[in-house]
Amino acid sequence: MKKIIYLQRIGDIDPGILIVLKKDLKWFFKKYGFKIVNLPDPLPLLESDYDSFKRQYDALKVKRRLIKAVIINGYNRVLGVLDVDIFSKFLNFVFGVADLPKNKSFGSALISVTRLREEFYRRTENVALFELRILKEAIHELGHTFGLKHCTNFCVMKFSNDLEDTDQKPPKFCEECANRMDIIIDSFE
Ligand SMILES: [Zn+2]
Ligand SMILES: [Zn+2]
Repeated sequence: MKKIIYLQRIGDIDPGILIVLKKDLKWFFKKYGFKIVNLPDPLPLLESDYDSFKRQYDALKVKRRLIKAVIINGYNRVLGVLDVDIFSKFLNFVFGVADLPKNKSFGSALISVTRLREEFYRRTENVALFELRILKEAIHELGHTFGLKHCTNFCVMKFSNDLEDTDQKPPKFCEECANRMDIIIDSFE
């Protein structure tokens, strides 16, 4: 099986964000033998993904289209990145969503960078912090696609209710999740 994580821009998002994320994820997933590839063409956001009452996009609707792209193109793992506010089911907002697949060799996830910016909270821009938050949320959602669940340790798999939670967790797996991840990756080969 090809060990590639594809990054998919969705809608109008600064491609520079994806370039930095690719570099950061490459460093993180190198030990698992995964390559990171940026897909060249963005997936458009559709009006049907938008909830005009909530003024947010429906993460699960967008992810459903992402899954279709995964299947059509034969990708085994895709992370969609978008820069609009998203909600999921009963949650007012989410930083991201992911499959928790039975077949761990295949998965899709989605993150939104909108609420990871200091400016969203009317604070001064902080690019380094913004990029670190994106990396944490990306690892977290990708972790789910490998079958990792939420974790209560000092761990990137800890659930983020708000930005403070994101800032408090490290951009890495705890020992338990790292061991689980090793077993999952070994089962690929
Ligand atoms: Zn999660
Ligand atoms: Zn953990």
